[in-house]
Amino acid sequence: MPSPITQNLDILKKAQQLDSEIHHAHILLEEIPSQRAQLKADLELEKTHFTELEKMLKDIQLKLKEKELELSQKEMQIKKLDGQLSQVKTNKEYAALQQEIASLKADNSLLEEGIIHILDEVEAAKDETRKEKEKVALVTKSFQDKDSELVTQEKNLQGRLVDLKKQREEAVTQLPPELAELYNRIVVKKQGLALAAVNGEVCAACQMQLRPQLINEIRLGEQIIVCENCSRILYFES
Ligand SMILES: [Zn+2]
Repeated sequence: MPSPITQNLDILKKAQQLDSEIHHAHILLEEIPSQRAQLKADLELEKTHFTELEKMLKDIQLKLKEKELELSQKEMQIKKLDGQLSQVKTNKEYAALQQEIASLKADNSLLEEGIIHILDEVEAAKDETRKEKEKVALVTKSFQDKDSELVTQEKNLQGRLVDLKKQREEAVTQLPPELAELYNRIVVKKQGLALAAVNGEVCAACQMQLRPQLINEIRLGEQIIVCENCSRILYFES
């Protein structure tokens, strides 16, 4: 027939096992909101990048339109001046017009070069925007999957916690009231860990060297002994 202390220690170990699981589940649950926030932030970052690329593409397209407009205005001006060539009276006027036309044509050839360059930029920007759009779609899908996974995980953990808490209450109720109270007090104070094994001559939880007399008392098993340093209930691993 095991001593009452041995029986109580067995119940305490069972309760401790459940409380450790409860503590672990709480930690996992507490991490979920920040994990969800991080996923959301990653998605927003990608969306922002896409918006920036779209804006860049629009800016380049606007620059292209301006240059094309400038080119067509100058071409019209050249046509107009060409028409005037036949109406001028003097050689000097004729030469001046020709010079003006030549200067406009030189401007236009620079404009045309510029336009070709901008067309390349437009193509590159379109390509980059298209790729980013695909990336946003992928990240959105991955966000939705991972986020709903986390929501499921959260629900499961909450359900598991209800179950574990019920089991730990059932275990603790089997203890004498004053021991149940002591255990409950320590478990709250010590982040879910109320029991500590004796490891050699050391408390496994706080690593404090235990007095030989204390170790003897634990061995005798006549009463519950707590660590003089961390206040946890000490036991020998059987
Ligand atoms: Zn200790």
